[in-house]
Amino acid sequence: MIPSMTEVEYSRESEAATLCKSCGLCCTGHLFSWVRLKATELTPSEKLGLKVIRNDPTQRGFTQPCPAWNGQCAIYTSPHYPRGCDSYKCKLLRELLDESISLRDAQSVVEETKASIRKVEAQLPKSADGSYRDRFIAQVKSLRESSGQGHHHKFLVQAEVLLNVFRNSFGVKDFFEEEEGIAKT
Ligand code: SF4
Repeated sequence: MIPSMTEVEYSRESEAATLCKSCGLCCTGHLFSWVRLKATELTPSEKLGLKVIRNDPTQRGFTQPCPAWNGQCAIYTSPHYPRGCDSYKCKLLRELLDESISLRDAQSVVEETKASIRKVEAQLPKSADGSYRDRFIAQVKSLRESSGQGHHHKFLVQAEVLLNVFRNSFGVKDFFEEEEGIAKT
């Protein structure tokens, strides 16, 4: 049977949901450290349990890792679901939706990215504070600036590989540009 347009769209949406559930990197603090909110969303988001930033006029939003992520978004159906989350589509998801990549290949990209993340994470200083992204940026900056780069060469090579994946596969390319690089919008 040739599927109708509605069925095709449904099938793509369903694949998109499968991909996002197997990924979550835009919610877990790996790609972003905070998510922008409109002024009217601050209080409703706080009531939903998100950690709203109240003390920084340059970051109106909530921090990541997001407490609503539990393998999928727990507040997806809320009328107060953040608009920034609703509208965000990473490059990989956009490619899946326009059929330039299959679901299986997209999931492989996610798996490989998570493996790279684990490799890098194992070498980050232990800390309960801050997102993976914050800790990753701090470590790369610190090692790039230190005179003993040779000793940390392996870490910096792995970090560069991961940054390339974030850039080329997910479309997140501004890890070191403070003004623009930290909002999931
Ligand atoms: S609210 Fe949902 S979609 Fe938005 S960052 Fe949190 S878990 Fe992800």
